[in-house]
Amino acid sequence: MSNLLRDLREALSGVTVIAGEDVDQRYWSDWYRGHPTRPLALVRARSTDDVSAVMSFCNRHRLPVIVQGGLTGLCGGAEAEADAVILNLERMSGVEAIDLDAGTMTVLAGTPLETAQKAAEAKNLLLPLDLGARGSCTIGGNIATNAGGNNVIRYGMTRAMVLGLEAVLPDGTVLSNMNSLVKNNAGYDLKHLFIGSEGTLGVVTRAVLQLQPRPLFRAAALLATASFDALVGTLTAVRRGLPGSVDAFEVMWPEFYGIVTSEMPKERLPIAQVHPFYALVQVSGNDEAHLAASFDEILFACSERELVTDAVLAKSEREIEAFWAMRDAVAEFQRLVGPRTGFDVGLPLRKMEAFVEHARVGLASRFPGAITAFYGHLGDGNLHLMCHVPNVTTQPKKEIEDIVYSIVRDLRGSISAEHGIGKARTAYLNYSRTESEIALMQTLKRAIDPNNILNPGRVIAV
Ligand SMILES: Cc1cc2nc3c(=O)[nH]c(=O)nc-3n(C[C@H](O)[C@H](O)[C@H](O)COP(=O)(O)OP(=O)(O)OC[C@H]3O[C@@H](n4cnc5c(N)ncnc54)[C@H](O)[C@@H]3O)c2cc1C
Repeated sequence: MSNLLRDLREALSGVTVIAGEDVDQRYWSDWYRGHPTRPLALVRARSTDDVSAVMSFCNRHRLPVIVQGGLTGLCGGAEAEADAVILNLERMSGVEAIDLDAGTMTVLAGTPLETAQKAAEAKNLLLPLDLGARGSCTIGGNIATNAGGNNVIRYGMTRAMVLGLEAVLPDGTVLSNMNSLVKNNAGYDLKHLFIGSEGTLGVVTRAVLQLQPRPLFRAAALLATASFDALVGTLTAVRRGLPGSVDAFEVMWPEFYGIVTSEMPKERLPIAQVHPFYALVQVSGNDEAHLAASFDEILFACSERELVTDAVLAKSEREIEAFWAMRDAVAEFQRLVGPRTGFDVGLPLRKMEAFVEHARVGLASRFPGAITAFYGHLGDGNLHLMCHVPNVTTQPKKEIEDIVYSIVRDLRGSISAEHGIGKARTAYLNYSRTESEIALMQTLKRAIDPNNILNPGRVIAV
């Protein structure tokens, strides 16, 4: 192996190649922390040429390559393997250009999402992708996972923002698809091969993103409802009352609300009573007076119709931030409750309640005392579940997953609405995809990566 490393260093002159024994543990796994492993080596690429050279070398030597962005992935896709080279892109960071007329941004794949958001903001534009991991996750990782996040209800997932990209294929070929046209039907739209395929078909190195005009004002409310139907009724009322202006409709079940507010003094809780459902709703636009008045009127009408039973309107940007901090405190679940098994399932709106009920009952009867916390993006049909089983040395992940994914399968939902399959969920892919869909995925993988060296074992087995 040391000869191989020496050859790799030679092939990549000037590029940082760190031998396995010197690789910092930070690079051994992503947030999933399945089986953190010391890799064979770590390469810190600086350019597309570096990435191409790594891929070409590793393809010739049949060396597995695992791509890493910001390592915030939640299903083990970027986790190291003992026999693999880690290709880390964090040095490929920076916004190359912003076209004010077209409202587009050209950005390197290793750029942290928050850096790209701020660059857009500085030009009075909006990069609408937003998620709790914004400070660490990278544009390349966002594209590879087709990340969703907080604003999908209004702006769609990452896929909707990518106009073009550059990717390096497993054999080192650089595929430039840096399209900046909104309309371009000249042949297959190849960028979609790389969006959401979790680095199994190519390494994304640059991208052209569609930005949006930045709404000048936002308003937010935390509200409570007595039933799921009332929640859906409220979502419909806000969407119809302020068409195209709803940024987020984040639903929290009471266990979740209790956990994320557990460290707040009771008198500071925006809503102190226990309700069956809570929702954080955000709208935005340019006419502040109209936005505030309409939002207020809609919520008032919802309470008159007995859809909303309690509501607190944020009175300042600070209060809006405080609402979001509460919702984003989900990242603290492990500290507040303990180790958890997390889910991000996709379900038709009308099946969400059944899913919650079945999962709650199924998990409680198998694991008495299990703590389950549900929350999600109602308008996108995306529900999250965190489950913690107390008094065990190791969380029974596999059994928890078997229970939850079987319910999703029976309700014909998706086992992953946004985080992806990675390494952790490959065994369940057929719960949400047909045989012929999986066969076509395998055909694509074999055609593009015949030696199965790029992110092997992720998404599908070949
Ligand atoms: C606190 C927190 C909140 C989160 N919230 C959300 C959320 O709301 N919505 C959501 O969708 N996700 C969310 N995530 C998951 C995660 O942030 C996203 O999946 C993110 O897009 C991953 O980006 P990354 O750069 O960290 O990728 P990594 O974790 O490094 O990699 C993820 C996958 O993409 C591949 N990859 C990375 N970079 C590239 C590249 N340049 N080319 C090809 N393949 C690549 C990796 O091999 C791996 O398979 C959250 C995670 C955390 C920790």
